[in-house]
Amino acid sequence: MKVIEKVSEMQKWSEAERCAGRRIALVPTMGFLHEGHLSLVREGKKSGDRVVVSLFVNPAQFAPGEDYGSYPRDLERDRLLLERERVDVLFHPPAEAMYPNGHQTHVEAGPLGRFLCGLSRPGHFRGVTTVVAKLFNIVRPHVAIFGLKDYQQFQIVRRMVADLHFDIEIIGHPIVREKDGLAMSSRNAYLDGRERGAARCLHRSLKKAALLVRQGEREAARIVSAVKEEIEREPLARVEYVSLCDPCSLEELEAVDGEALLALAVRIGKARLIDNTLLKA
Ligand code: AMP
Repeated sequence: MKVIEKVSEMQKWSEAERCAGRRIALVPTMGFLHEGHLSLVREGKKSGDRVVVSLFVNPAQFAPGEDYGSYPRDLERDRLLLERERVDVLFHPPAEAMYPNGHQTHVEAGPLGRFLCGLSRPGHFRGVTTVVAKLFNIVRPHVAIFGLKDYQQFQIVRRMVADLHFDIEIIGHPIVREKDGLAMSSRNAYLDGRERGAARCLHRSLKKAALLVRQGEREAARIVSAVKEEIEREPLARVEYVSLCDPCSLEELEAVDGEALLALAVRIGKARLIDNTLLKA
């Protein structure tokens, strides 16, 4: 596996692969890899001839006071995991390469960036779209794989690709969970033993909502309050939002009719955890 830090070297590698007629798959990550990331890599192997994993903790998507400085990092472990998956390139640029002196241009997410996580993390999705657009221009992939755990991010990237005419296929990969249902996340490392136990309430609450819908409940307000109630039974958990919304526009729904996205963010200790599920009436 090649480890590339320089933007120009990454571009040169991709240009050569493209000229040789090979299809490049990109998996963007912030590192501290887990099975969720690795399943995206395996999806990448299926959809491309070459797989590039980018590892970049993007300062532009963290607000002041968020966990940019303390975000878990372990480059050596990540490198070994990716080597084992037979990844072709690990692209790991320093922040100065991605945001050189004088940098001032950003990609602004539209209304999709204002719902859900956008409410409590203003500027977050602008940071995401900006860095993803940069990665697309540097790696020049034919296909890029994103996890549906970050469902809003997936929809925003899809929108950006359509709006800015990137010639890139975007694949959404299902959420990978621990045995007890907790969605895998690098931020789960923030949880101590008790908090880790408490974090099971996220998945439990999603399952409760799915059961309610199966039993015939359609009213969004009642489903949302049942979900909040389930989370709030856990004393260590604080609900940031629970939203039942349209899976494409992310606008709040009054009733489940067809497909609806149930998305939530919960704080437990130092961790801010997100999860979601699609409900079908
Ligand atoms: P991150 O390193 O957290 O920025 O995540 C990098 C990519 O991995 C994003 O597309 C995430 O949606 C995806 N991802 C993270 N956790 C999971 C998971 N548990 N299941 C599926 N995809 C995931």
